[in-house]
Amino acid sequence: MAILDVLRHPDPRLRLTADPVRDFDEGLRALTEDMLETVDHHEALGLSSIQVDDRRAVLVLTPTVDPSVPRVWVNPELIGKAAPGFVEESCLSIPEVAGNVIRSTRMLARAQHVSGETFEWELSGMDAVCLQHEMDHLVGKLFIDRLSIFKRFRVRAALRKRLREETAIA
Ligand code: ZN
Repeated sequence: MAILDVLRHPDPRLRLTADPVRDFDEGLRALTEDMLETVDHHEALGLSSIQVDDRRAVLVLTPTVDPSVPRVWVNPELIGKAAPGFVEESCLSIPEVAGNVIRSTRMLARAQHVSGETFEWELSGMDAVCLQHEMDHLVGKLFIDRLSIFKRFRVRAALRKRLREETAIA
């Protein structure tokens, strides 16, 4: 097991789309174990494979509403969603900002376990929100894309400041 490096916005690899997993092998199991170790290390609510520079369609969650929600989701697909509301989000790949986005707070989704077995699950509250956030990553989308123009301007300013600071250190 290992803690993986998390890509930071504006890394262009965060804009890639994941490919469906077809091989449910030892390599997939190792990836999911490393992703779980990484999300727990950061005390984060979720992490996608795209953020750790892997194109296999995998995400991991840290459920907070219903502890029985599966932690590992391979090839996740939306079946249905309801009850939209504003939710404050943040992201391990964009550490300097948080912002309000509209998300469904109820969601029915399908995925596979690391064994390849298919499951369907109904999620609510932050569990549903986190699944949508991580599924967005698998198609190269970031939560800042869903913010208002005004808020996006502030995100760019915060990002410029961080890049200036990193350049000053380097
Ligand atoms: Zn994220």
